Amino acid sequence: MNQQYECDVLVIGGGIAGLSLALHLAPEARVGIIAKGPLTEGSSLYAQGGIAAVLDEQDSTESHVEDTLSAGAGLCDPDIVRFTVANGPEAVRWLITEGVRFTREAREDGTGDYHLTREGGHSHRRVIHATDATGRAVETTLEQRVREHANVDVFEHHIAVDLVTAAKLGLSPNRCLGAYVLDRESGRTRVFRARCVVLATGGASKVYLYTTNPDTSTGDGIAMAWRAGCRVANMEFIQFHPTCLYHPKAKSFLLSESIRGEGGRLLLPDGTGFMHRFDPRGELAPRDIVARAIDHEMKRLGVEYVYLDISHKPESFIQQHFPNIHARCMDFGYDIAREPVPVVPAAHYTCGGVVTDRAAQTDLRGLYAVGETAHTGLHGANRLASNSLLECLVFAQSAAANIQERLQQMPAPPALPEWDESRVTDSDEEVVVTHNWHELRRFMWDYVGIVRTNKRLQRAKRRVDLLLGEISEYYGNFRVTNDLLELRNLALVADLIIRSALARKESRGLHYTLDYPQTNVGHPDSTVLEPEHHRAPEQTAQPRTTRARGS
Ligand SMILES: Cc1cc2nc3c(=O)[nH]c(=O)nc-3n(C[C@H](O)[C@H](O)[C@H](O)COP(=O)(O)OP(=O)(O)OC[C@H]3O[C@@H](n4cnc5c(N)ncnc54)[C@H](O)[C@@H]3O)c2cc1C
Repeated sequence: MNQQYECDVLVIGGGIAGLSLALHLAPEARVGIIAKGPLTEGSSLYAQGGIAAVLDEQDSTESHVEDTLSAGAGLCDPDIVRFTVANGPEAVRWLITEGVRFTREAREDGTGDYHLTREGGHSHRRVIHATDATGRAVETTLEQRVREHANVDVFEHHIAVDLVTAAKLGLSPNRCLGAYVLDRESGRTRVFRARCVVLATGGASKVYLYTTNPDTSTGDGIAMAWRAGCRVANMEFIQFHPTCLYHPKAKSFLLSESIRGEGGRLLLPDGTGFMHRFDPRGELAPRDIVARAIDHEMKRLGVEYVYLDISHKPESFIQQHFPNIHARCMDFGYDIAREPVPVVPAAHYTCGGVVTDRAAQTDLRGLYAVGETAHTGLHGANRLASNSLLECLVFAQSAAANIQERLQQMPAPPALPEWDESRVTDSDEEVVVTHNWHELRRFMWDYVGIVRTNKRLQRAKRRVDLLLGEISEYYGNFRVTNDLLELRNLALVADLIIRSALARKESRGLHYTLDYPQTNVGHPDSTVLEPEHHRAPEQTAQPRTTRARGS
């Protein structure tokens, strides 16, 4: 008999969003936090640049708001943008009091002000950072605080399978009561009960063949919220980073845009340049234009990658400017000081997600979503650099305030039905999962990537429908595993991306289609999908919860 775990607030995800939220709540509430791998493994750990916030006297809230709205190409929610930007400085100060050591201006006694960098799209220096490993500095500091806190229970290698809602159990009023959670080590699925549940599961970039994200980014929170009846918005807006090292073992290694900034050139396999054909600024064109140009050339020539070349610069210059990139590339057998290196664009950031309000509340009572999983209205059709960590911090804070206010009115959930495995067996064909996993990521890359067309999207839609059916049947018959759960979520998120992309009859921000290359005039709308209209097999068949209900 599995014992049911109970807490006040269950936080699903141990990235910067989840950890900050847990820390804000811990003084007042019992918090359980789960992560599907080691606590710190997630995109947060790999964030390089930093956190955008108005910290310089010369800068202003107005200017940061303007820059964010301009990147978002008409789809940001101006109130949410202002709210986020206005709360940025406080969020950064909180991190400093928690012990994060940001880089200071170089002064001999080490007491200078914090050093701020300027990134693309920002009109001021406003990105606070910890050298080029900001995410690691923040994540590991918060991890330490969380582990020290007596009110926080940490469950690593635990993956949430699905949310438990009152409606699924035939109870009213509807609210979130907890989650079914698979302990990856024992292989057992347990019930985690909570007054409130927070999804902080990160983005969904693993739905693409190439991504800068770690393996955790499989859109689990978006898929779970959707299955629980929540709306999802703007899933067509996926940000691609133009240059990721092409190497089977260098899954998420970014080659920083500053290489192009310092004269690096993009070359075709025959050694000729191509960027000047796409934009007069050549290699210095904005990120989306460069990613689109590379994608165009790869598709035109049917090649797997193009090259990035900085070898014309003296070795001493490269050592001084790019010591880490140089060393990492050497590990993979490339010397950037002597030769061009193969690169591909890679999925980097999911702008859309679970629809939330400014307190991070979703459509389901007692369910919150924070960080990359959420759609708050901050990013619109394109994310401004370094605004995502800011969003994680600000909304973790506002969610915590809202939860604290409501916690006492949220009754403890009743005992919930155990996970029922009486009618499933161990899979006899794991190959179905690996095959479908590869197929999905490949066709998402080829047909729903950087440059889209109606025909490509329709092709992808037909394939995803088949996969959803197959996965649903498999899920109904076999014991769950981590890979199966991730595949099930990825396929659902792929479907949401394709449907959102098909619904947008224009090119805007990160969504570019050859069939509608123009941006519509007038007031644009976000693409909001509602679960009631979702009739994929995955939605109609809920074998686990149906069985659980009867047990
Ligand atoms: C290489 C790289 C560089 C970046 N640089 C910057 C930058 O400089 N500035 C910036 O603002 N942004 C940057 N970003 C984006 C930013 O890092 C992310 O948007 C942000 O860290 C997301 O944080 P999060 O807490 O929402 O999710 P994550 O940090 O991705 O954490 C997700 C957590 O959820 C857990 N999880 C997921 N599914 C489940 C499940 N089913 N059950 C249990 N646990 C689950 C994971 O195990 C993980 O602990 C970068 C991203 C990458 C990949």
